[in-house]
Amino acid sequence: MNDGGRDAHVACFDTPVLRVQDVGPHVRRITFGGPELERFGVPEPALDLRVKLLLPTSSSPVPGIGETGVALPHDWYQQWLLRPEPGRGAIRSYTVRGFRRGTDGFELDVDFVVREAGGPGSTWARSAVPGSRALIIGPTSEAAAGALAHTRCGITWTPGPANDVLLAGDETAVPAITAMLETLPARFTGNAFLEVPDAGDVQQFPGHPGIRTHWLIRNSSGVGHGQLLLAAVKNSVTEQERGPEYAWIAGEASVVTGMRRYLVRDRGMDRNNVTFRGYWSAGKSGSGVNGIPDKPRPGLNYSGSDE
Ligand SMILES: Cc1cc2nc3c(=O)[nH]c(=O)nc-3n(C[C@H](O)[C@H](O)[C@H](O)COP(=O)(O)OP(=O)(O)OC[C@H]3O[C@@H](n4cnc5c(N)ncnc54)[C@H](O)[C@@H]3O)c2cc1C
Repeated sequence: MNDGGRDAHVACFDTPVLRVQDVGPHVRRITFGGPELERFGVPEPALDLRVKLLLPTSSSPVPGIGETGVALPHDWYQQWLLRPEPGRGAIRSYTVRGFRRGTDGFELDVDFVVREAGGPGSTWARSAVPGSRALIIGPTSEAAAGALAHTRCGITWTPGPANDVLLAGDETAVPAITAMLETLPARFTGNAFLEVPDAGDVQQFPGHPGIRTHWLIRNSSGVGHGQLLLAAVKNSVTEQERGPEYAWIAGEASVVTGMRRYLVRDRGMDRNNVTFRGYWSAGKSGSGVNGIPDKPRPGLNYSGSDE
């Protein structure tokens, strides 16, 4: 699908903010719109579909990576990295929480975790108002069409023939897990564990008929990030004669690694049946596991991350 160095799978969409809604003390739902979303591609179902957001920073009011709404070159990310830091903005990964045709065109929801002392993603979301701009880098409608859509669009839910499943994640994985629970086929059974900061962050959503949702409230528990999640996963698996057939886990990198280690090493799950994604790393800026340490290191000229 390579056309003259362009990658028909991915484009950058100029998407003004339509609405902002706080769905909990730490989660802000931002609805993006604009005519360019006509070309945005969403496989059916979208599951944990991820996008990247190119966000303004204090030194870069409206960054860009070239023409919007058309396929990006294959090496768009390398090209972006070569840009001088003041001015190029920041890239962070997020999940498509909702996508629909509204009365005035397509709308795309992203649920941002917002924090007091956040990086560019959280800071932008906290100040976003209708009309604010961020660029969304995501699949084109061509990428979302056809048998390979899920792989091409960056969806990681791959249960194969499994029926009994485990989903676990912290607040950054709540958008992906709730989106999946709303759309997964009824054949699935199992448990979903969601660790959130406060009781107010528990969301009402339709859920899944066969997968039980368990909300774990961290701040009132007195234990550190991810500890409730790890304990709940261990308890649920220990109670079962056999572990789950498939597990999908995401959140803070070291917590995710701990859960995966338990499932694979201690419980003997086949590593191929455990999808795990570090969505962020404590003490490092940038999405995923490749962020840079918050304390600047001499010679390191990189303020974004890509996962
Ligand atoms: C595939 C994928 C999908 C994702 N989907 C979502 C999503 O839908 N919603 C969402 O909110 N996040 C999501 N994330 C996680 C998000 O990209 C990271 O949390 C990212 O670090 C936020 O960027 P930032 O600019 O706010 O903070 P950064 O500049 O990246 O980090 C600044 C500091 O904040 C810390 N930090 C980062 N995130 C958190 C957090 N959640 N809690 C506490 N400290 C944190 C870092 O360790 C660092 O010390 C996803 C990540 C991936 C890889």
